[in-house]
Amino acid sequence: MPSANKPRSSMNVFLGFFYLTAFLAPISAVSAQANKNAGWDLIKIGGYDYVSLEAIKRFYSFTKLTRSGNSVILDKSKVQMKLKVGSSECLMNNVKFIFSHAVTTSGNSVYVSRIDLAKLIDPVLRPNFIKNAGDFRTVILDAGHGGKDPGATNQVGTEAAYNLRLAVRLKGLLAAKGFKVKMIRDSDRFYSLEERVTIANSVNENAIFISLHFNSGGRQARGIETFTLSPPGVSHYDASLKASDAIARAGNEHDSANIALATVIHGSVLRKLGTNSFDRGIKRARFSVLSGVKHPAVLFEGGFMTHPYEARLIANESYQAAIAQGMMDAIDRYRFAVGHNPKAEKR
Ligand SMILES: [Zn+2]
Repeated sequence: MPSANKPRSSMNVFLGFFYLTAFLAPISAVSAQANKNAGWDLIKIGGYDYVSLEAIKRFYSFTKLTRSGNSVILDKSKVQMKLKVGSSECLMNNVKFIFSHAVTTSGNSVYVSRIDLAKLIDPVLRPNFIKNAGDFRTVILDAGHGGKDPGATNQVGTEAAYNLRLAVRLKGLLAAKGFKVKMIRDSDRFYSLEERVTIANSVNENAIFISLHFNSGGRQARGIETFTLSPPGVSHYDASLKASDAIARAGNEHDSANIALATVIHGSVLRKLGTNSFDRGIKRARFSVLSGVKHPAVLFEGGFMTHPYEARLIANESYQAAIAQGMMDAIDRYRFAVGHNPKAEKR
């Protein structure tokens, strides 16, 4: 993941936090003019707020903005962001994110939706500014499916069994590093989605929640993907926007932490899998575990059981070990990134 853009002086810390707070305020409370004054160059396109890439470049101290046709690249030390006009795909340090709205233009400038800036780009670039992402020692592992629900199946195995095997392996790594692990299930037993949420929410200390799955979807589909809860106003992946999408869920309390956690897990597993990986991106969804769990949460899909090559990989111990190790490294890095909160230090 991109390293945190640590402002160079305490004055910069203060200014950075001040503008971010102003920026995240509800749109009804902040007029377009006020935002313009804060330097965000806010405009409305198709009913949504957009900010210019020039403003993003200034605020996050990118050193270079290069546009060639529809391709746009923002660069600074240790961070590269690649965008395409008309596309929702964004690469940050070569990890793929799926924006809620496509990148667009107005006049000669390129614009990104305000919700993608506030709910995705900002927490990824500045995880140390995430509020209420306190230090944690507990990891809740949710091996998807089980019992009467085998999940995806192929000739060699069931998703429920692979999910549990991955969870047990990751639990071992985490325990060895001193983390407390809460397993939603540690045997081939069925739990409803509501029961999983209830068990996770019975953990009262700071924790993170990771739901483990393998995918299905025809012989062509392949790759890993990581889901985090859609922020209010953003639909479930591939679905059209519904009125109920505007309502905040329990999981939305951690919107910023959710995307930061997804980023570090997705990027770290991709690196560990190396040439065996295919990046489907970090996506938004309204799965019930993501909506209901009160801890920062992600749902990880570790490859397609329906793809002939990936089916063999998933059954392979070293592939599972690479995923577990990638997640372990990610959890360590995430804990470090959010554990240095400039706001908390000021109290
Ligand atoms: Zn599943």
